[in-house]
Amino acid sequence: MLEDYSQHPQLAKIRIVLIETSHPGNIGAVARAMKNMGLSQLVLVNPKEFPSQVASARASSASDLLDQATVVESLDDALVGTTLVVGASARLRKVAWPQLSVRETASLTLQTTLNSEVALVFGREDSGLSNAEMDKCHYLAHIPTNPHYSSLNLSAAVQIFAYECLMASPIKAGDNVNAEVLSKNVVAQTRQGYVHDLASSDQLEGFYTHLHQALQDIKFLDPQKNARFMRRMRRIFNRTQLDIKEVDILRGILTAAQRQANPQTHAQALSSPAEDNTDKE
Ligand code: SAH
Repeated sequence: MLEDYSQHPQLAKIRIVLIETSHPGNIGAVARAMKNMGLSQLVLVNPKEFPSQVASARASSASDLLDQATVVESLDDALVGTTLVVGASARLRKVAWPQLSVRETASLTLQTTLNSEVALVFGREDSGLSNAEMDKCHYLAHIPTNPHYSSLNLSAAVQIFAYECLMASPIKAGDNVNAEVLSKNVVAQTRQGYVHDLASSDQLEGFYTHLHQALQDIKFLDPQKNARFMRRMRRIFNRTQLDIKEVDILRGILTAAQRQANPQTHAQALSSPAEDNTDKE
């Protein structure tokens, strides 16, 4: 009996997230690209048309992925429980985002799936991913192309990421002599000495909301001029890959600052889970 790669526990933890896809045919083509490489989790954020006959026809024998696909209303919903989020972008941005190559993305993805879930996020056919959506990604990954025409078809972009994930997986590690070395390098760069469970995307969003509020409460941040500043804050913290305990400690500090700034509204009841921030490790 031939092995079904989609049963592999690591590949099963990779989510392909498509944002506001316009053409159902592209959704079908993505399902096919995924199934060929052993990926199975498809998450659709506000697709224009789904379910769709056109999508099923294009998916061919991968229409089971469409039947199991999850449809959600926001990127936040799509990212719940993930600890690594990579945004695929046809454009390199004016704001410098931390970047990985597709191959590095695959190595880090496979490493992360040993413990938790990963999301690879793809944008709209016409306008890609917004900066606000990129804010929720730890890294940007770009497929090098002819600079005169850098935008791949959505399913072609997914195909390249999915292929690299399969090649970085233990299934194909024997075929890919560089996978192990690359994986060690990427992991060493990003997670040296890492021992705790990483904070999930939803825990990080809770932290960013708290940080935003606390910075206003202590009169550091002008509510009118804060988008760029918060983007910079996210970049700092996303780069460091906070673990759950660290998020608790930071939120404890924020709560203490809020209490100093406004003792009435931030009485004991607001104490955060990190109230006891002594290090017990
Ligand atoms: N016109 C859009 C491109 C949309 S293509 C733009 O300028 O942003 C649809 C999606 O496919 C993109 O949002 C991205 O997720 C993926 N994609 C296309 N080309 C890519 C490339 N060269 N590198 C990485 N992702 C790419």
